[in-house]
Amino acid sequence: MSLLIDNVGTLVTNDPELGEGPLGLIEDAALVLGDGVVQWAGPRAATPEAAAAERFDAGGRAVIPGFVDSHAHLVFAGDRSREFAARMAGERYEAGGIRTTVAATRAATEAELDATTARLVAEARRSGTTTIECKSGYGLTVADEARSLAVAGRHTDEVTYLGAHVVAPEYADDPAAYVALVTGPMLDACAPHARWIDVFCEQGAFDGDQARAILSAGLERGLTPRVHANQLGHGPGVQLAVELGAASADHVTHVTDADVDALANGDTVATLLPGAEFSTRATYPDARRLLDAGVTVALAADCNPGTSYTTSLPFCIALAVREMGMTPDEAVWAATAGGARALRRDDVGRLGPGARADAVLLDAPSHLHLAYRPGVHLAAAVWAGGVRA
Ligand SMILES: [Zn+2]
Repeated sequence: MSLLIDNVGTLVTNDPELGEGPLGLIEDAALVLGDGVVQWAGPRAATPEAAAAERFDAGGRAVIPGFVDSHAHLVFAGDRSREFAARMAGERYEAGGIRTTVAATRAATEAELDATTARLVAEARRSGTTTIECKSGYGLTVADEARSLAVAGRHTDEVTYLGAHVVAPEYADDPAAYVALVTGPMLDACAPHARWIDVFCEQGAFDGDQARAILSAGLERGLTPRVHANQLGHGPGVQLAVELGAASADHVTHVTDADVDALANGDTVATLLPGAEFSTRATYPDARRLLDAGVTVALAADCNPGTSYTTSLPFCIALAVREMGMTPDEAVWAATAGGARALRRDDVGRLGPGARADAVLLDAPSHLHLAYRPGVHLAAAVWAGGVRA
């Protein structure tokens, strides 16, 4: 079965060979989906004859690639709204708040964790996210981390082992023993469930040497690194990520010129997570500085119960444009093609022939409305793998 999406006001392909600029924009466009992939995309006047069995009239509205959210923590239990309220009343965020969620997650049944993850993936989908990464990191025992990854794997292929989220409370007096667990028996149990390994490299979590040991152990087991880096202060995370060939350094809020240079000259994407700065009332990362230096930038929602309880990439796009110096075009690219780069995927984040048929119809004439109309639900229809969600 194939589907012609016809009468598209603005089509974002993210393929400069198909249209104008880095977004590959085509005005008055059409798109043919079939067998789960994009079969054709171009100007409406050039639509192939007998293009498709079915026709969908976009009514002059915009179509963009599904959002690729490359950073999420969806397997958890509990609620931290009171902590959020306290923070908004003036308390400071420190990395230890994660332990509250760890206690609740360990106490939850697998069915409860599964239901929460499913609910959040569906919520993300309704706002236009068709690819989402998911980390463990609220179990922090061998069994609880492996269970979290098994749950994540039922909802996405992009599964990340984050046993090194914080030092488990049982090891508070002996972090070295916890690192040995994360790089030993926990890695043995988790590696079969994961594609990626991540570490929270931050004061109060893991220092540079510990992060290097953890990521190197993962690399030896075939897991590719991604790093929570330079969120709360300056640290070694960004440069370690680049040195180890991480797919992404995430947060990248407090960076030196040397950090920016390393990103610009390496293969590591800088994934910015403005929902975290919004929800902790912190200083936003300077996306303009990174983009001007030639760094590849992605935007992700960082959905987690402590510091960014949102699944909405449109919200992050609006923040990135208003607060981080990005243009609307750059922000839309970062939330689609940028996310795909951060996951080292070339089949998503674009709408050229052969790409996965992940498309979002916006209730707007162009993608600019994602930043222009903040807080408004614009995803009028979402196709994932060619299937209307
Ligand atoms: Zn995170």
